[in-house]
Amino acid sequence: MSRVLELLDRRRRAICRLSVLLLALMVAGVYVLVYMTGGIKFVYSHSMYIPILLSGLVFGFKGGILVGLLGGFVLGPFMPIDVGTGEMQQTANWLYRTGFFVLIGFLSGVASDAARSYIERIKWVSRHDLGTRLPNRNALLDSLQPFAKGRGKRGQPVLVVIIIENELELRSSFGETVISEIIQQAPQRVEGALPCGASTYRLGSSQIAVLIDQCGEDAEALVGKLVDAFQMPFLFDGIQIHADIRMGYVFDQPMRAPESSVQMAEVALAVALEKAQDKVAYSPALVSAKQENLAILGELKEAIGQGQLMLHYQPKIDLGSGKVLGVEALMRWMHPEKGIILPGNFIPRAEHSTLINLIGELALDKAMAQAVQWQESSIEVSVAVNISPRNLLQPGFADLILRLLGHHRLKGDVIELEVTETALMTDMEHTIHELARLAGSRLIISIDDFGTGYSSLQYLHLLPISLIKIDQSFVRRLPHDMGAVHIVEAAVSLAHKMGMKVIAEGVETAEAYDFLRNAGCDMAQGYLIARPMQADDFVKWLSRNGGYHQRLQ
Ligand code: C2E
Ligand code: CA
Ligand code: CA
Repeated sequence: MSRVLELLDRRRRAICRLSVLLLALMVAGVYVLVYMTGGIKFVYSHSMYIPILLSGLVFGFKGGILVGLLGGFVLGPFMPIDVGTGEMQQTANWLYRTGFFVLIGFLSGVASDAARSYIERIKWVSRHDLGTRLPNRNALLDSLQPFAKGRGKRGQPVLVVIIIENELELRSSFGETVISEIIQQAPQRVEGALPCGASTYRLGSSQIAVLIDQCGEDAEALVGKLVDAFQMPFLFDGIQIHADIRMGYVFDQPMRAPESSVQMAEVALAVALEKAQDKVAYSPALVSAKQENLAILGELKEAIGQGQLMLHYQPKIDLGSGKVLGVEALMRWMHPEKGIILPGNFIPRAEHSTLINLIGELALDKAMAQAVQWQESSIEVSVAVNISPRNLLQPGFADLILRLLGHHRLKGDVIELEVTETALMTDMEHTIHELARLAGSRLIISIDDFGTGYSSLQYLHLLPISLIKIDQSFVRRLPHDMGAVHIVEAAVSLAHKMGMKVIAEGVETAEAYDFLRNAGCDMAQGYLIARPMQADDFVKWLSRNGGYHQRLQ
């Protein structure tokens, strides 16, 4: 970057020298012209205005005054009125002319200075954010220009795009200026966190970019330092506030046009937002996954209308007796061309749109219809439905469930709602109220993926929860990983003390199964017992086993 500035500077100095030379030649030329045409009494002395005006324009008011003085002097004491007769001018005559030249030089210089500072201001505005005075997207693109194609990978900077995810929440709590205030504190934080140089740019209302000089350090580690720095609270009006930050970055890709580099970092940022990760590095695979995801979402609405979404059911058994107590309803998309699409490929996407409300309602409706059908065939199992955080926050969610129960003439205790910790913690007051109404109608509420979120234990007892599902990530590590063993034992003990039951999900091995039974875990679910299956297959499986799962020794 400094080489480019040096080159520019050298060019500017050369142009400057050339201008001085040309102006000096012009002044000398006017002198010769006036002399050769017979002296000052003829009209040619007015030609001196040309170099004076030009010098004002090029060098500002100082240049204008200087050339005005020079011109006055050149056409002054040594220039006769009439070369033919040798008659000289009066002093007052050339002094007055010199004064006039100086005034013209000064005025043209002032006009040119004003125009130049106006242009400078416009240029500055086009390259800066007015709220924080930080350089903006245009400035970032300019800074990236030297690294564009053709200069190889060496010495390339790391480009990080950062967004404040909880912008709305912060604005509504602390007012409009809070985001600018946080962003203003960013450059200092960036400089403090990184060993080499870095510059900060504001790209949008809550989006900034940091261009890090890699200086031989590991790019991942540098971005890690940035994440740590941004996790420290920011100060606003003397209050410490937390900004939820996500980062997307690009560092080892052959740099193309500056716009493409920014776009790559933004693609990575979109993935970081979608997956709720602190930082994501760009890779070409992200783009194709994203395009595929967008295409899937586009088709999803139609698929719902055409009845392509259906539920599969996975048994949950009592660990003491082996009795099948219930099933978890898991959504499957029967795509006419792509075959079965698992929920991980479309539900997280749908969660970012209102489609998740449609999906939530569909799952509840289908699960209830199935529960009624099984009750009619004397199959007594509860049916658990997964509830997205957005479903729970949707206004009138409890009303919707109660209305559906009424429609299917079903009692609440057959339906279980699996809610994740994050969903519970998002809007506690609203959630407690909605879940209390549902629990009042005897629906079973369970916490899904227990141990992976940030559930604050002190709030657990406020919620009408009757079951805790220990996340698969712990169950999978049983019984050899002592960390997992301790977490499972603590969860079992905590749940029992609070009057709740515990189910372990993702039970795949006989060893884990035995460990859980001995640890006092109440229920289990997992591939060891059975995989999720279509309703008909579940009924066959159940009758084959006489309603019980017997663990083979
Ligand atoms: P989840 O609620 O944690 O569901 C358990 C997932 O683990 C299911 O994946 C299930 O098939 C899988 N699983 C069960 N036993 C085992 C095992 O022993 N080993 C392994 N490796 N996996 C096991 P699935 O069906 O792909 O669902 C993924 C996630 O999609 C679910 O995670 C749930 O969060 C979501 N989901 C599924 N159906 C719905 C739905 O109707 N609505 C909403 N909002 N989310 C749903
Ligand atoms: Ca679940
Ligand atoms: Ca789960």
